Amino acid sequence: MYAGQKVPIQNVSPCPVSCSLANSGHKGSPLFWFCNTFCTIHLASHFFFKHLYIKVLPLSVLTPTHPYFAPALLEWYPRHRRDLPWRHTRDPYAIWLSEVILQQTRVKQGLPYYLDFITTYPTVQELAAAPEDEVLRHWQGLGYYSRARNMHYTAQQVVREYTGVFPGTYSELLRLRGVGQYTAAAIASFAFGEQVAVLDGNVYRVLARVFGIASDIAVPATRKEFQALADTLIPAAAPAEFNQAIMEFGAIQCTPLKPDCLFCPLQSHCYAFQHGMVQELPVKSKAKASRTRYFHYIVLRHGETVYLKKRGAKDIWQGLYDFALTETDTAELSGLALADAVTALGGQLATDRAEEPVVALRHVLSHQKVEARFHCVWLEQPLPPAALNTSGLAPFTPSEAHELPKSVLIANYIDKYWK
Ligand code: SF4
Repeated sequence: MYAGQKVPIQNVSPCPVSCSLANSGHKGSPLFWFCNTFCTIHLASHFFFKHLYIKVLPLSVLTPTHPYFAPALLEWYPRHRRDLPWRHTRDPYAIWLSEVILQQTRVKQGLPYYLDFITTYPTVQELAAAPEDEVLRHWQGLGYYSRARNMHYTAQQVVREYTGVFPGTYSELLRLRGVGQYTAAAIASFAFGEQVAVLDGNVYRVLARVFGIASDIAVPATRKEFQALADTLIPAAAPAEFNQAIMEFGAIQCTPLKPDCLFCPLQSHCYAFQHGMVQELPVKSKAKASRTRYFHYIVLRHGETVYLKKRGAKDIWQGLYDFALTETDTAELSGLALADAVTALGGQLATDRAEEPVVALRHVLSHQKVEARFHCVWLEQPLPPAALNTSGLAPFTPSEAHELPKSVLIANYIDKYWK
């Protein structure tokens, strides 16, 4: 029995008669009630008299780890899987690339990025040799930019420490920057056939529902419980197919809101379905409420020059370019405060330019909302070198600014509002 499980129903051999009869009756009907009651008594008898059953049950039922599970998924997978490019390769580089891109990203959104990266950088050596700004530019719009920076670093690490050859085991893969347990398991099983189970959101959902596990999947300690179960389910003969199958099953059959239980091959074994708990499982405690931040971008311009800077560490969008920034507690920035900020940056307001309207844009991230105001300010003179040194700003032409790696917020502002 698993720690969070309500009933140890899956740990005993299923009753071949009453389970199938129960499934043929409607929930709540006398037939369903009779069969389920009979089944419970029957299952209890397995516990006390299992030595008697050993002689008569088929061999597959006697294996200790839910023998129906892997065969059902492996039978389902080839008939339902989506045809995706990274499923046609065992190249660890291509698999790693796809896994990094698809973390916290839907397949539909990630697919064009994968195709772009694998075409632009067909080998790990080519990705490692690319400038970081160029890599970030290709990543633009995918969010979670630390993934792109880690990916670039890891490519260099593979070239530097492993002569450009990806390590071939789960434990070695874990030594690479940005490669966690999920990615290491995916590469080790897909590329090298290692028998190590993957755990992603889809897998958590399938296991929680089928095995009736009510542990909170948002709690890190729960991972061990699910990993231990998944490791007992993965067959030695087909680890890659099993991992692909369970993830795909969670993505298109056992979906979060509308799982297709009616035509599910695991229905008769599924704890959540049998107990009317499909919408309750998995249990995931709510994430922290997101906070709102107020960014006032000061877009300093002079003639054909615009000033941008690279964002530093310890905040969102590290390594991407934006404008001089003042963050406040409200959406307002007075004219006086704006003028003071321009002076502090070493600039002098042009006297012959009309004031530009403020542009307001909103950008929603996973844990914060950014309410951005763009204040376009025309300068009397270019910023002096000392001011550039202090502020970190650098001069660009508008077409150069278009080519810099930027957050979607900044890219949207430039695309929509620059003449
Ligand atoms: S019966 Fe429904 S909840 Fe259970 S595994 Fe199948 S699709 Fe998921």
